[in-house]
Amino acid sequence: MKHILIVEDEIKIAQLLEDYLQANAYQTSHLADGLAVEAWVKSHNPDLILLDIMLPGKDGLEICKALRHFTDVPIIMLTARVEEIDRILGLEIGADDYICKPFSSREVVVRVKAMLRRLDKVMTKQQSHPLTINRETFIAQYGKQTLTLTPVEFKLLDLFNQHPERVYHRDQLLDHIYDDGRVVTHRTIDTHIKNLRKKLQQVGAEEFTISSVYGVGYKSHVSS
Ligand code: CA
Repeated sequence: MKHILIVEDEIKIAQLLEDYLQANAYQTSHLADGLAVEAWVKSHNPDLILLDIMLPGKDGLEICKALRHFTDVPIIMLTARVEEIDRILGLEIGADDYICKPFSSREVVVRVKAMLRRLDKVMTKQQSHPLTINRETFIAQYGKQTLTLTPVEFKLLDLFNQHPERVYHRDQLLDHIYDDGRVVTHRTIDTHIKNLRKKLQQVGAEEFTISSVYGVGYKSHVSS
């Protein structure tokens, strides 16, 4: 049974979500205070989190950022502020999806199911391709072959490997690889990606590819 944590200070909404998720065979827990979330997640390891933004104690965006320091648990933000969506899904906050308020409980269940299903698929795929990345030694290997990567290429590959199929804007990728705020052009990213692809090809990484998304940026794809 998958365990869903609902973080929502409006008790009525939380109760509705709990009822609906439980009716769909999910185990649920509910927290109403933002300050309690990190410790709770550490000790209970939920399978997915529905996270409201406006909360007492600590807001959902800050919580999400903090959670990302120690867990990849799928996080769906509940937001009434449409203008924040880019930021929510961006690297800085790192949520996986969002649902706009007001929502129907049915919609939430559909999205939760879809997210968990997608994750199961990704897990299966990750086990089936031989790319391994060691962040402590900075060594990336495909099967038994070592990829000779620059630090920037390593960071990019690590990111794409963690989130197959997720589309990254060039700006997000730039923010990710240069944290000193230096000014670089989109062409810089294109060059790094081009080199990284070449190196992946050299080791015969056919199951792991990085493709461009027209007008946006890049995503990785794992084929079995
Ligand atoms: Ca709220």
